[in-house]
Amino acid sequence: MSSEHKNAAGWRGIIQGYREHLAVGPETPIVSLHEGNTPLIRVPNFVEAIGGAFDLYLKYEGLNPTASFKDRGMTMAVTKAKARGVQVIACASTGNTSASAAAYAARAKMKCVVLIPEGKIARGKLAQALMYGATTLQMPGNFDDALTIVRELCADGAVEVVNSINPHRIEGQKTAAFEICDALGDAPDMHVLPVGNAGNITAYWKGYREYADAGESDTLPRMMGFQAAGAAPFVEDAFIDDPETIASAIRIGKPASWQPAKAALQFSAGAIDKVTDEEILTAYQMITAQEGIFVEPASAAALAGIIKLQNANKITEGSIVVATMTGHGLKDPDNAVEHAKVEATTVEPNLDAVRAAIGL
Ligand SMILES: *Cc1c(COP(=O)(O)O)cnc(C)c1O
Repeated sequence: MSSEHKNAAGWRGIIQGYREHLAVGPETPIVSLHEGNTPLIRVPNFVEAIGGAFDLYLKYEGLNPTASFKDRGMTMAVTKAKARGVQVIACASTGNTSASAAAYAARAKMKCVVLIPEGKIARGKLAQALMYGATTLQMPGNFDDALTIVRELCADGAVEVVNSINPHRIEGQKTAAFEICDALGDAPDMHVLPVGNAGNITAYWKGYREYADAGESDTLPRMMGFQAAGAAPFVEDAFIDDPETIASAIRIGKPASWQPAKAALQFSAGAIDKVTDEEILTAYQMITAQEGIFVEPASAAALAGIIKLQNANKITEGSIVVATMTGHGLKDPDNAVEHAKVEATTVEPNLDAVRAAIGL
């Protein structure tokens, strides 16, 4: 990658930045909000707190334009839809895909239809879909039910499905692996991420492999995925009818990328395990209070996974571990306010009351 693509001031999104690794031509009408180029942040306080002796870096995808990693795939999916002359895109979503689709559709002057499970998406994500102007349809049931309808809606090709069953999504998302290799000089030893539909774990593995094949990196990481215990079809090795977890972004019972994710695990000597909601909430509070990095509960599932691996002595001393923080904490303000360790205290509006409240 040429140095101009590494210059934050001049960064123009993942398609411009990694054009040679993506199927776009000089005439392709690129739809971008300058996604990607997110920070890779070392988190020594967290590692120390869990008694680890390894280097952990967080790929902070919450700093994308709509505050989740979904933007990497969406710039590709919407660009390709635009190139094909499509007027309408649609998706089923636990929230972040709909936020991203709605934003990129607005940018591309397309119509966007989002199907979301009623009352089950985080408040910030709903606010985004509405503000970007998507036709927002809420329905009883869960994500899996909504995806079934979207597949049917898009069957004749007039409406483009932009869920991760759209292969362009995976193509865009693989660029996060490129950025990590560029930042570290090579792939990490282990890559940990939360798993819902398993599109992202599939995409990262594809990215790491392609970068190695292109001679841009030398090694491949072990891919480690974590699901919420109440929504862990990979761990149970069976689809789940009523997935349940506080981490709404991974409340998925029938993962769309079942086969490719299994292949990624097999070829990388990786695994998918589960963490409880309680473990997710602990990690959620820890990473915010100890490192100043606010992520949504689904992202914290990866950190809960790292704690679980560390407690089982499964992280080699001195190794380099990367975890993807898939979405920003502000996406889900209700869970944050409910589960923060600290509460707001009401005081009288005078200096004495403030001094007394802070113990001075
Ligand atoms: C979409 C999403 C996930 C799950 O990614 P998959 O590709 O469906 O496995 C995890 N965390 C957040 C915040 C998400 O938006």
